[in-house]
Amino acid sequence: MRRRTMGAMFLALSLTLVWGCAGMDYASVASIAVKTTVKAAEASRPISDSEEYYIGRAVAARVLGTSRLVQDPQLTLYVNEVGETVARKSPRPHTYKGYHFAVLDSSEPNAFACPGGLIFVTKGLVVMCGNEDELAAVLAHEVAHIANKDGINSISKARWTEVLTTLGTETAKQYAGAGGQLITLFEGSIDDVFKTIVVNGYSRAAEEAADAQAIKTLQKAGYDPGAMAALLAKMMAKKGAGSSGIFKTHPPTGDRLAKVKSETPAATPNKMEAVRTKRFESIKM
Ligand SMILES: [Zn+2]
Repeated sequence: MRRRTMGAMFLALSLTLVWGCAGMDYASVASIAVKTTVKAAEASRPISDSEEYYIGRAVAARVLGTSRLVQDPQLTLYVNEVGETVARKSPRPHTYKGYHFAVLDSSEPNAFACPGGLIFVTKGLVVMCGNEDELAAVLAHEVAHIANKDGINSISKARWTEVLTTLGTETAKQYAGAGGQLITLFEGSIDDVFKTIVVNGYSRAAEEAADAQAIKTLQKAGYDPGAMAALLAKMMAKKGAGSSGIFKTHPPTGDRLAKVKSETPAATPNKMEAVRTKRFESIKM
């Protein structure tokens, strides 16, 4: 029941995003302004969990400006169930508004982790997965990016200092009253994150850390830690040295595969495997 409610919540949120503008809405900005009662001396503090959430929501809106969601409640609930399972075993099991997962209607294999816990995986990548363990590997990798705050860390320090300094001045209340100006203030931060997760990709070190973390998370969650290597091998075979989508934003698949293989412990038989295989087959598109 709880998962169904969360799935419904995410769908409601998704609709808000789809129907809202592709930037940061006024309510989000006002919320940040209220919570961000900074003084000039605090202008170098890190981005808070609630700020991360609102920025991530705006980034998600931009992702949805480029690709639609798959309208399949059963698939969405299933991906959320698998995603929540790995998130709970990750180094960051909780975020300000929790983790939410959704499937984008694109045949190109790809996945995006928006700061705060909104994770998109394309239909193309779900189709490429041969079993639930491989889907869990994809989602564990994206959860690792959120746990490591890779998206939020792509906001330049100078940019965030400017945001905080402006919010810390006496004019902050005026900004809060004039949504447009405050939205402009945050747009740069949202741009930084969007370009990183969709266009340029994270650093190679961040990707390797996410792969390594995903292997540990898979094992803790009772999945086959070898699923990451199995999926990467499949990606290599399908696309070779591909140059778009996930292949553009991630290090060469062959390099990732070699490193992941060296980090993968032997799988231990799991009695849940039959159950997982059955439910994966039931949603397979
Ligand atoms: Zn990644």
